[in-house]
Amino acid sequence: MDFKEYIRVIPDFPQPGIRFKDITTLLKDGKAYQAAIDSLKELVADLKIDVVAGPEARGFVIGAPLALALGVGFVPIRKSGKLPGETIEASYDLEYGKDKLAVHKDAIAPGQRVLIADDLLATGGTIATASQLVRQLGGEIVGAAFLIELGYLDGRAKLTDIETRSLVQY
Ligand code: 5GP
Repeated sequence: MDFKEYIRVIPDFPQPGIRFKDITTLLKDGKAYQAAIDSLKELVADLKIDVVAGPEARGFVIGAPLALALGVGFVPIRKSGKLPGETIEASYDLEYGKDKLAVHKDAIAPGQRVLIADDLLATGGTIATASQLVRQLGGEIVGAAFLIELGYLDGRAKLTDIETRSLVQY
């Protein structure tokens, strides 16, 4: 399936000059959404994953169904202040703006093999930070999987120590 046909590009959102890749047009199509999750599952089939972790909010939309497809659990990585239990946090720069991510201290057991999943790799800041949190808990990052990779922002340069895979590249 050509997933690009289902992804809508919106110019100047959320800021002038940014060409936002809108995945809601893919998500609302059951066949395309299912096919994307199936393809991501195949893309990571060799990685021996114990658990999938994904950052709020679109990382949930990709990471949770991918976890179920793989038959493993899902760990939400949230914006600061949203998780009810004890957390660890880390700050990072976005393609536009700044943010802080948090994860429950007991979300990942030491030695667990963790796949990080998100909708899109831009500068890599989000996933570098999410990975830092997972490693702080003793998790081993076995890979990062994305629906979309913006090659022109070279997020991979921030993830040189992570096996990075994507379905669709721009
Ligand atoms: P990074 O940290 O790699 O610069 O940015 C990636 C994060 O920002 C992802 O969590 C993603 O959801 C969001 N993001 C940045 N640009 C876009 C975009 O064009 N489309 C979508 N859907 N998400 C984006």
